[in-house]
Amino acid sequence: AKPAETPKAKVLKVGSETTFAPFEFQDEKSKEYVGFDMDLIRAIGKEMGVEVQIQSMGFDGLIPALEAGNIDVAISGMTITAERAKKVDFSTPYYKSGLSMVVKVDNDTLKTFKDLEGKRIAVQIGTTGAMEAKKIKDATIREFNNAPEAFMELKAGGVDAVVNDLPVNEYYIAQAGGKDAKVVGEPLTSEEYGIAISKKNTETTEKVNKAIEALKKNGEYERIYMKWFGK
Ligand code: GLN
Repeated sequence: AKPAETPKAKVLKVGSETTFAPFEFQDEKSKEYVGFDMDLIRAIGKEMGVEVQIQSMGFDGLIPALEAGNIDVAISGMTITAERAKKVDFSTPYYKSGLSMVVKVDNDTLKTFKDLEGKRIAVQIGTTGAMEAKKIKDATIREFNNAPEAFMELKAGGVDAVVNDLPVNEYYIAQAGGKDAKVVGEPLTSEEYGIAISKKNTETTEKVNKAIEALKKNGEYERIYMKWFGK
């Protein structure tokens, strides 16, 4: 008799903007996508019994890709907002975040968000950072495709500050940017990240939420958290 075929695992198509360390970025050597979100979604996939395939795309393309059915879920340090929740569903929140500002290391005049009035600010297109920066009086907003480009513009002197997610700013300063830049001020907002899923796909949302719950119970969430954010 023929041996029984092992059934192929179903694929979970995951979209992410993969230049947002430490949540998602490409490992220079292995070229693999690594980071907190990447570990989390792989662990979720394991719980769900599916094979995780990660596709890199622009942050502002993630929700359209979900709506078009090109991806099943998006994990990308994405803040749960009322505006986005009109278009997609979100998993239970999995990370608490907020916005902060980065200035040149020798800048002693820009200390709070109030000081950004009338200044030039770099942000990533389609983000909560872009939305908040646009509310700052008389500021000139320059929008970039990703956070590294915004940081580069600060380094080049083209802007006075970058407004972006605090954990990403801190990671940049700790890894590469510390000679040139620093994080200042209190966090401007309190935000929560969620995994975005098409409204048509409520079954996936339920499974993802169950998986997150299981990973919180069995200690795997904590292990992944400590790997990226523990001291
Ligand atoms: N958390 C921010 C947002 O959702 C930034 C996300 C990102 O740049 N990947 O808008």
